[in-house]
Amino acid sequence: MKYFHSIRWRLQLWHGLLLVFVLMGFGFTAWQLQRANQLNRVDHELEQRMGIIAGMVRPDTSPPPDRPKPRGFPPANRPPSGNSFPEPANLRLPAREASLFEGIPGQEFYYMVWLRDGQKGVLSSSAPPDAPRPERMPGPPAFRSRGTLRECFQATPSRECLLVGRDIRSELTDIRRFAWLLGGAGSTVLLLGLAGGWWVSTRALHPIADISATAARIATGDLTQRIPTTDTDSELGQLALDLNNTFARLQASFARQAQFTADASHELRTPVAVVLTQTQTALARERPAAEYRESLAACQRAAQRMRGLIECLLMLARLDSTKAPAALELCDMEVIAREALELVLPLASEQNIHLELELSQAHCRGNPGQLAQVASNLLANAIHYNQPGGSVRVCVRCEPDTAVFCVRDTGMGIPPADLPHIFERFYRVDKARSGAQGHSGLGLAITQAIVQAHGGSIKVVSEPGQGSTFEVRLPAPHLMQAG
Ligand code: ADP
Repeated sequence: MKYFHSIRWRLQLWHGLLLVFVLMGFGFTAWQLQRANQLNRVDHELEQRMGIIAGMVRPDTSPPPDRPKPRGFPPANRPPSGNSFPEPANLRLPAREASLFEGIPGQEFYYMVWLRDGQKGVLSSSAPPDAPRPERMPGPPAFRSRGTLRECFQATPSRECLLVGRDIRSELTDIRRFAWLLGGAGSTVLLLGLAGGWWVSTRALHPIADISATAARIATGDLTQRIPTTDTDSELGQLALDLNNTFARLQASFARQAQFTADASHELRTPVAVVLTQTQTALARERPAAEYRESLAACQRAAQRMRGLIECLLMLARLDSTKAPAALELCDMEVIAREALELVLPLASEQNIHLELELSQAHCRGNPGQLAQVASNLLANAIHYNQPGGSVRVCVRCEPDTAVFCVRDTGMGIPPADLPHIFERFYRVDKARSGAQGHSGLGLAITQAIVQAHGGSIKVVSEPGQGSTFEVRLPAPHLMQAG
């Protein structure tokens, strides 16, 4: 039973059945042709002799001379005057024609004649005495097979029946031998075909065994395993390539997951440590009220940081699970940018950052809360990573089919080596500086996730020491609806 579930056995079975059908069809056709050929040859010979006999039979009303009686033509059955049947002498074949009825004893040609009234007239010495008169009497010669005999019969114009026949045992033996030969050759071809099919299916399915073995090793936890791929043009080679890509993505995804968990734990550890240290110190002995207040304030800051971090993580988890932003509505990026600017204004004036605005109406369809977070993240970064007295230029404009929001700062810029990574979760260029001030490296990751969920794109251009420009492009409302 197990064998019938195996692809190789099923292939072999279908291949074998197909081969048997083809060989049987071919063999049967060849046998038929050979048989027809043999019979045609015999029929042709019979027809030739039938012509001779038919030529010999002619109406004859002259009185019968004294001749030996042929076998099977009793005088009682002699036809009345005017019968078209020949006198026996008329059927005495000339030597040349008679030689055509000679042959290997038992296989020579014979002839028979039935009179109009159905009585047996003349028959050659080798004719079988029990041969029945043909039922139907066609004008042209017709053929029949009786056991090992092949016979040709025909009616004369005056309705006598002529029959010429021969024992075709040797032809039948030849045909039978040919059938055995075909059977033998067919069996050999079938065996060779099955062996070849087995070899081909083994070769063709070999990559599947590799795929299965690799998948089994990966299932045990070794994500570094890959399927060996040599022939990438074949279907299975392509499948192996696709699976390898999937395994690579899985491995990267697991690595990211592990890194994310480690980073999140690491980020949470600091505020938790602050809370523990503060509470331990406060509880160690009696303290003045001001010191308790200080400890509680430190605990509050740590808790706020934890809350901020947890909110970011939840936000990312939500964006990961649903690719489309919730509650889409028509938004004006200009209005959103102005609201975000109001929020960061105190921070900008604290750092003495000059804000330049170049805002015009630009509509898009989206979640206003999430788009506001995009704007405030980019503005907060532009101020935070700026230099004192620097400037931030904010622009909102409408391009064909796109609402563009961009923030340019004159800050420290981002080294080219870090640029490809800044949208990764928990990635920070200067770990010491940003981490210490509560920047966990999730802001740009969230920003990118929101923009992508809105069907938009975000890109950054930066030059160390000169500043950075972040540009967000969101599809216009009619495009979002169409999508
Ligand atoms: P963070 O919370 O640390 O700001 P982000 O995801 O917002 O995290 O930014 C990732 C990193 O990209 C930051 O740590 C910072 O090093 C760099 N970065 C982001 N915006 C700017 C900017 N405008 N100028 C220079 N560096 C920036």
